[in-house]
Amino acid sequence: MSENYGQAGEVLRKVGFELDHLGIAVASLSEGSKFYRSLGFTEMPTEDVPTEQVRVGFLKLDNMASIELLEATSDESPIAKFLAMRGAGIHHVCLRVSRLDQVVSQLKAAGVRLVNETPRPGAHGCRVVFVHPASTGGVLLELSEPGERVAGKGHS
Ligand code: ZN
Repeated sequence: MSENYGQAGEVLRKVGFELDHLGIAVASLSEGSKFYRSLGFTEMPTEDVPTEQVRVGFLKLDNMASIELLEATSDESPIAKFLAMRGAGIHHVCLRVSRLDQVVSQLKAAGVRLVNETPRPGAHGCRVVFVHPASTGGVLLELSEPGERVAGKGHS
């Protein structure tokens, strides 16, 4: 097999990363959040991410990671397509990195398949790049560089 899981892993191991969130596709945030509310999550701040045509709700865990529920805001949304093909479920894993541009050029140099090579604006003012599942063993991988404001309120 000429799969290149190793290349992506090697780059990320060198630059360092933390688990930021798990992205879960849901038909609707209100229905999709029921299980999580039953777990005790009482707050779920939501945000529209126009570049991905999604509305997301964040459930914050104690260990600095979150669960992100994603609802499509248009039929053209990647989440609408995912739901049509696979139904509700895990859509992506997100790792937090610093210096995203540097990471992207290293991934490109290593031959890692990226969904977008130019970082896009994500939720909370983050910049994000997606690594294709073909380069990660089957799961879409989001790489996120936090925005300027750590507190994460409003837009800059
Ligand atoms: Zn995400």
